[in-house]
Amino acid sequence: MADCLQFTQREQEYPDLKDAATRKQHFDEIYTRFDPDRAAEQAARCSQCGVPMCQVHCPVSNNIPDWLMLTAEGRLQEAYQISAATNNFPEICGRICPQDKLCEGNCVIEAGFGSVTIGSVEKYLTENAFDNGWVTPIIPESENGLSVGIVGAGPAGLAAAEQLRKAGYEVHVYDRYDRVGGLMMYGIPNFKLDKHVVTRREALMRESNIQFHLGCAIGETLPFDELRSRHRAVLIATGVYRARGLSLPHDDYDNILPALDYLTASNRKGLGDNVDGFDNGRLNAEGKKVVVIGGGDTAMDCVRTAVRQGATSVTCLYRRDRENMPGSAREVKNAEEEGVIFEWLSAPKSFKGAGRVNEVMVEKMRLGSPDKSGRLAPIAMPDSLYGMSADMVITALGFEPEDLPHLWDAPALQLSKWGTLAINPHMMTSLEGVFAAGDIARGASLVVWAIRDGRDAAASIHQYLMQQQAISKPASVLQPLTSGQ
Ligand SMILES: Cc1cc2nc3c(=O)[nH]c(=O)nc-3n(C[C@H](O)[C@H](O)[C@H](O)COP(=O)(O)OP(=O)(O)OC[C@H]3O[C@@H](n4cnc5c(N)ncnc54)[C@H](O)[C@@H]3O)c2cc1C
Repeated sequence: MADCLQFTQREQEYPDLKDAATRKQHFDEIYTRFDPDRAAEQAARCSQCGVPMCQVHCPVSNNIPDWLMLTAEGRLQEAYQISAATNNFPEICGRICPQDKLCEGNCVIEAGFGSVTIGSVEKYLTENAFDNGWVTPIIPESENGLSVGIVGAGPAGLAAAEQLRKAGYEVHVYDRYDRVGGLMMYGIPNFKLDKHVVTRREALMRESNIQFHLGCAIGETLPFDELRSRHRAVLIATGVYRARGLSLPHDDYDNILPALDYLTASNRKGLGDNVDGFDNGRLNAEGKKVVVIGGGDTAMDCVRTAVRQGATSVTCLYRRDRENMPGSAREVKNAEEEGVIFEWLSAPKSFKGAGRVNEVMVEKMRLGSPDKSGRLAPIAMPDSLYGMSADMVITALGFEPEDLPHLWDAPALQLSKWGTLAINPHMMTSLEGVFAAGDIARGASLVVWAIRDGRDAAASIHQYLMQQQAISKPASVLQPLTSGQ
């Protein structure tokens, strides 16, 4: 047991990081887990400040100071319960949230002493809860007989599914993929998030009687109208998958790959699937000189996957500098340790080769005034062109939403000016009883924001259906969605 406020005496510590030479050999997670003493000591560094900026900057408003204090005191089950009250998947956020930009980046002791290592304590706390059998399937107090259909088994859809099941709904989750998890399964690599962590949650959700309909693409396998007719309300949580392109000459060459094709093949291979594009070498970086274009977390996942597949060299081209890249600084450091070369202030100008790229022509950039996004605009430097040898080019330039109204034959489904689904403050789309959450409504974002959106959408669906029911039933038969559900 430890008292809080230990930040002046105890150094900031993270769980042990496997050395780069070892972690390049496999796809296992790279951080170990705190042992109970270190978790308690690190949690006890919390200053219990009056206005907890960690909580303010957490998308799900985790009550971080309270669960840190309870961890420091060894009251681990209570700590877990408080953490789980605001977050459906703390074991996932503990692993892959960019804490340096959220809770830890806003910890008040960050400046002088180094923040509390909140994410690592969160991971410890939740893994310990699983080990002790404290994470159990949902058993609603009573069934309300109302059914909700959720399209998309990513974090937004899954968080909503759990919340609605707690309130007694019959919940059906539809996904075009053959596995549950969305980008947590097929986008994010195993070395950041072990797939077992996702399937363990899925198993609990199945035990909670949440029904999954996998391999079911709405708009193809099942018409959207039919889906609506099956359920009292529908939540669309389909994410964003249309890769932004380069619009350069020869960008259609066979060895220029969109990041998600590449990462999905690698994740499927890791899960034991037969993957044609991987087995014939197209989506496998082994023995190749790989150039990855982009500076976000997807690009970082690609470079680090290529290293593990045995690429002979891996270079990341990014048109701004290190300080202005969108990806997490921690991931860049990990990638550099693993041997990735970063060419800052560099952008592709064209590709050379006959049918296949063998050289990327790169132009050096400088940063000018802020553009309309508020970030410093890259400007090409004259006479700076040079060639970079490449056998495989991976583009990681971000994602746009698909045109759902068109794909789903639902012209009344309105879009925002960004192409995401337009929603009102209650997360309802332009269609009565149809809600939207996660990246498809917010634009490409983070798992923790998807969880938040899923929870908010579940609360709105519940409120909507309660109002619908109130027309035909007295209020006393309706269960409110209580806090923590
Ligand atoms: C490579 C990569 C790495 C990332 N790394 C991180 C990270 O480290 N930390 C972090 O916080 N965030 C990360 N993100 C972002 C994060 O994964 C997303 O913000 C989050 O998964 C969005 O959740 P979602 O539920 O909205 O959508 P998704 O996770 O995309 O899930 C949507 C689901 O809907 C399904 N679907 C789509 N269309 C249909 C249809 N017509 N019918 C049925 N099902 C359909 C899809 O198959 C998918 O399973 C990363 C993203 C990528 C691409």
